[in-house]
Amino acid sequence: MPHTSRRLRAALLATASVTLVAATLPAPEALGIGDRLFPRLGNPGYDVLAYDISLTYDGTNTHPLDAVTRIDARTTAPLERINLDFAHGTVHSVDVDGRAAEFATADEDLVIRPPGRLPAGAPVHITVRHTSDPSGDPARGGWVPTADGLAMANQADAAHRVFPGNDHPADKAYFTFRVTAPKDLTVVAGGLPAGRRRNGATTTWTYRTAHPMATELAQVSIGRSAVLHRTGPHGLPLRDVVPAADRETLEPWLDRTPGQLAWMEEQVGPYPFETYGLLVADTDTGFELETQTLSLFEKSLFTEFGFPAWYIESVMVHELAHQWFGNSVSPRVWSDLWLNEGHATWYEARYAEDHAGKQLEQRMREAYTRSDTWRAAGGPPAGPDVPSPDHKIDLFRPVVYDGSALVLYALRQEIGAAAFDRLERTWVRAHRDRSATTADFTRLAARIAGRDLTAFFDGWLHGTKTPPMPGHPDWRSAEPHTAGGPRRPAPKPE
Ligand SMILES: [Zn+2]
Repeated sequence: MPHTSRRLRAALLATASVTLVAATLPAPEALGIGDRLFPRLGNPGYDVLAYDISLTYDGTNTHPLDAVTRIDARTTAPLERINLDFAHGTVHSVDVDGRAAEFATADEDLVIRPPGRLPAGAPVHITVRHTSDPSGDPARGGWVPTADGLAMANQADAAHRVFPGNDHPADKAYFTFRVTAPKDLTVVAGGLPAGRRRNGATTTWTYRTAHPMATELAQVSIGRSAVLHRTGPHGLPLRDVVPAADRETLEPWLDRTPGQLAWMEEQVGPYPFETYGLLVADTDTGFELETQTLSLFEKSLFTEFGFPAWYIESVMVHELAHQWFGNSVSPRVWSDLWLNEGHATWYEARYAEDHAGKQLEQRMREAYTRSDTWRAAGGPPAGPDVPSPDHKIDLFRPVVYDGSALVLYALRQEIGAAAFDRLERTWVRAHRDRSATTADFTRLAARIAGRDLTAFFDGWLHGTKTPPMPGHPDWRSAEPHTAGGPRRPAPKPE
């Protein structure tokens, strides 16, 4: 942006030695790691190992929070500059390895010039003093204002509206959150508590993750909350965070989590994290979100719409299933999103079948009927259309939910239930705490099935038309609607 380039230019002209270097460096520019759906997300040349994020909340949602983000990283290439994703806050200062560094913003990147060139393979420690602004359009993601404080909803590309970082699930890292808030508020973040200190009128709460996490899955809840503790399978500590006034109303739902966890463990194996629970927020997001170890739910899901119990439980299982599919095993690129949502929808539907008699085959038959329409409207499951820049949540279309659960159903029909079961268990074990690609999944499926599945996956994951359903040659997909007008041309599958 012109304003910030002027600031960098002024800084560069401040000393003669810097002016010399400036002559050889191009203007700061926003970079990305080449994600087809979010080209400017993430940054090349380094790997973040850990974030340590301090936030100070003054009790109002209209003032920016004061923040310090400390990043431990390792360079993977020689760097003259370090780009971090960051937008929607003011940067006061940046240190690199303890020395003041110049910085500028370019689009949604904070571009830092370390005092010296960094070699490849070197540890680097970055400290950014900044603000984190909870105001603005909640539909863009990031901070979510609630009736009594704040929560976070960063998926897919909004963590950098809260803190600077490498905002792409290909770069997972450990997180520590240290949140200072007025003493009558309660703070809970993903991971487990690592200290609480009273300091006059405020309290500082510290939480730390025991597993690496994608930036999009960070969660911090600040509010007038009750924290309810219970125990899950094998002594797993569970904690739910709910508006204090609603704890009794919500308790019958929260009490379902241990049973849901036991059921999920029967399907795919051990729960992958150190804790789990629901963050029930009095807010209007229009979605629930699988933030790691602490899934975000709108209070109204449980209290307002009169949804049947089986439906509410299946939504709870959807977010729980994401802890394995999407969180522990993260997408390498956003086109792998079908692996997150297809699996979460699959276990949501399987749970409803096991517990409420909702036939999976019936649901999949209905999905098949609509599948061609979904593919026409959103692209094939593993090659989704690029979301519009001002409405990126468009990425979350039916084709990645039931349209992708349908791919898993077809796969189970194709390779048989026993091989499918082994694939699911092996997948979450082999890629635990890492990012994985669609190609990793299809390769593993072929290995476990003991045969080539290239043609099968080409059609099911990348075809504009839904292939015939194995075992159900009579299933038909309806002609795509064109009511929505002409659609963008389908992008090439990756
Ligand atoms: Zn989901």
